[in-house]
Amino acid sequence: MSQRYADIIIDISHEAIDKAFQYIIPDELNEAVTIGSQVEVPFGRYNKTRKGYVIDITDKASYDIDKLKSIAGISDKSIRIEGNLIRLASFIHKTYGSTMINALKTVMPVKEKIRKTEQRVSEEEFELKNDPPESLNDEQLSLVEEFKSDYQNEDYKTYLLAGITGSGKTEVYIGCIKEVIKKGAQAIVLIPEIALTYQNVARFKQHFGNRVAVINSKQSKGERFLEFERVRNHEADVIIGPRSALFAPCDKLGLIIIDEEHDIAYKSDQSPKYHAREVAKERARLENASIILGSATPSVESYSQAKLGHYKLWKLDKRPEGVSLPDISIVDMRDELHLGNRSIISNELKEAMAVCLEKNEQIMLFINRRGFNSFVSCRECGEVIKCPKCDVALSLHNNGFMMCHYCGHIERVHKECPKCKSKMIGGFGTGTQKVEEEIKKIFPAIKTLRMDKDTTTKKGSQSNIINQFLNHKAEVLIGTQMIVKGHDFSNVTLVGVLLADISLFSNDYMAGERTFDLLTQAAGRAGRSEKKGKVVIQTYQPEHYAIATVKKQSYEDFFDMEISYRSLLKYPPVYNMMVMMLTSEDYDRLNEETKSCAKLIKDAFTGDKKIRIIGPADASIVKINDIYRKVIYIKSDDLEKLRGIREMFDEYEAEGISIMFDVNPVNSY
Ligand code: ADP
Ligand code: ZN
Ligand code: ZN
Repeated sequence: MSQRYADIIIDISHEAIDKAFQYIIPDELNEAVTIGSQVEVPFGRYNKTRKGYVIDITDKASYDIDKLKSIAGISDKSIRIEGNLIRLASFIHKTYGSTMINALKTVMPVKEKIRKTEQRVSEEEFELKNDPPESLNDEQLSLVEEFKSDYQNEDYKTYLLAGITGSGKTEVYIGCIKEVIKKGAQAIVLIPEIALTYQNVARFKQHFGNRVAVINSKQSKGERFLEFERVRNHEADVIIGPRSALFAPCDKLGLIIIDEEHDIAYKSDQSPKYHAREVAKERARLENASIILGSATPSVESYSQAKLGHYKLWKLDKRPEGVSLPDISIVDMRDELHLGNRSIISNELKEAMAVCLEKNEQIMLFINRRGFNSFVSCRECGEVIKCPKCDVALSLHNNGFMMCHYCGHIERVHKECPKCKSKMIGGFGTGTQKVEEEIKKIFPAIKTLRMDKDTTTKKGSQSNIINQFLNHKAEVLIGTQMIVKGHDFSNVTLVGVLLADISLFSNDYMAGERTFDLLTQAAGRAGRSEKKGKVVIQTYQPEHYAIATVKKQSYEDFFDMEISYRSLLKYPPVYNMMVMMLTSEDYDRLNEETKSCAKLIKDAFTGDKKIRIIGPADASIVKINDIYRKVIYIKSDDLEKLRGIREMFDEYEAEGISIMFDVNPVNSY
C-alpha cells in the first residue's frame, strides 16, 4: 500500500498558523487515521506534542518528504468528526473569517467524562395542554404533500413557510419529518433557545416518542454529548435544539427545519460569527437534505430570497377552524399624558383588563426590559449614571444597587447627582417589577406572575411559572421577550404591549424588522382558542410603519416598506455588509490605526463601484470594560470582495490592537 499523508489543523488559535500542515501517516496508524481523527503530532522547532485534526488525506506529498514529520499517535479521547462537518467548518472559516481551528471546534462534539447520574437527559416537569390535532387541515396537507413529492423525486429544496401565528406550522413540520424518517433519514429541528419550551418539545415527543433527542443550554456538556451519541447511533431520528444542534452527527440527514427563522439567536455572538440559516443551507447542499424555514414574520433576508424564486414560498394564512385573529388597537401614549393619565397603563388597557378578568380569562403583559427601573438619572441636570468602565448606563435593581450589564460592575445607588449634587436623582423607565406593582395597585385582588431574567435563573423556574399560569394560578403574566415566543395559552384573550417603541430606539438597520417581529409575535399570543383575542399596543410613535403594519396584520405591507428602505440605504439583504471593529485600551493609537486601516482599504479599491466604505467612526458603545472600540463599515453586493478585504488583514499585527470582523451583522456596533 502506498504511503499516505494527512493534512492537519493544529489546535492553536492563532492567525499566523491558521493553515493545514502535512504529516506522514505511519504504517501502524494507517487504519486508525481517517478524516476527522483527532491526533497528536510534533509541532514547531522543538517538536512539542500538539493536538490536531485531520481534515484531508492524500497519497501525494506536497512538500519535500524528508522534511515531513510523522503523526505520533491518536488522541485517547478521540472523537471522529464526519467529513461533511469538516467541510462545513471550512465553509464557516471562509465565509465568516474565523480561524479554522475555531471553526472546527464549533462543529465538533465535546466529549466529557459523564457522571453516572447523567445517564439520560434530565427533564423538567411540565404539563401538556394541547392534544395533537386529529388531522391536518387542507392547507397543511397540501404543503406536506408537496414536500413528499419533491422529496421522493430527490428534489431537495429550501421552503419558506410563512404562516401567521397559530396557523399550525408545527404540524406541517411534523408531517414532513415523518416522510423523511420513512426513508430512513434523520431530521434536525432548530428552535431559538428562548422558544425551546417544554410545550414545544413535547409536541414532537407526542409523535416521535423517545426517538427525539433534545439539546439545550442548561444541559451539562456530558448530557449534550449523550444526546449527540443517540443521534450518531441512530437511536434518535429527530434532534431538537438551538443553533448548535445544527452540528448533530447525523450520517443520513434528510431535513433541517429552522423554526422562527427570523430570530437573531441564530447568529452566533462569538467567533465564528456564523448564521445558522446560512450554515444550514451549506450543510443541506453537502448532504442532499431539504430545508424548511418557518416564521410568522420571516426575516427580510429569507422573504426576499423567496420572492426572487430561490426558495419555495409556502403560506398559511388561516388559523385552524373556529380560531380568529385578535383585534389590535394602538394607543398613543402622548394622548394619555394630555388626558392626565401618568400611569404606564393606558385607560384602554385598564378597561380591557377589567373586561377580561370579569370573564375569568387571562392576560399577558409584555415589556421589552428587565430590572426595576432601567437606569438612574438626575431630574435637575439630566446626568445619567454610567458604568465607570463602559459607555453604558447602569441598570437599577430592586436591592438598592446598580449594575452594568456589560461588565458586571456593581455599585450602590447614589444619594446625590455626581455632577450637580442635586438630591433629585432616581430611576427612569419601566421594568417588569414596576409594572407588577402598578397592576397590584389597580387590581388589588388578582394574582400576578413575573417572567424575566431575574425570575428564571434557576433550573426549572421557567417551566414552573408556565405551569402555574397554565393552571390559572394567576390572572396576569408579566414578562420580557421571554413570554412572547412559542407559548400556547388557550385561556389568554388579552395581550398588552406596554412600550412598543423601545426596540425602535436602537440605532441599527434592523430596528424596524425587530419591532415588527416582536409586536406580531406578542399579538399572536392572544386568542389562540375559540375565544376572541384582543391586543393593546401602547406607543409614542403610532405612525411608524413597523407599528402601523402590525395593526393591519400585514407582513407583505411591512416587507414592502422595509425592503425599499434597505435598498435605498444599501443594507442587507440588498447588499452585504461587513463590520470591521478595532479595539484597544489606548484611544489615540486606536484612532490612528483605524484611520490607516480605512485608508488601506480605500486605496486598494479606488474606483471600484462595488465597494463602499463608511467610517471610521466610534462604535455606538465607545468603551466596554475600559477597551475602546472603533468601526469601519464596508458594503458590497459581492461577498468575495469582502473576503478579500479580510484577507488583507490576515497577517496584520499592531501591538495592543485587535481586529474583529462581522459579516452581515444582526446587531449594532
Ligand atoms: P404556529 O406554530 O403556526 O404558531 P401551532 O403549530 O403551534 O401554530 O398550532 C397552533 C394551535 O393550533 C395548536 O394548539 C395546534 O394543536 C392547533 N392546530 C394546528 N393544526 C391543527 C389542525 N389541523 N386541526 C386542529 N388544530 C390544529
Ligand atoms: Zn444633576
Ligand atoms: Zn461596565
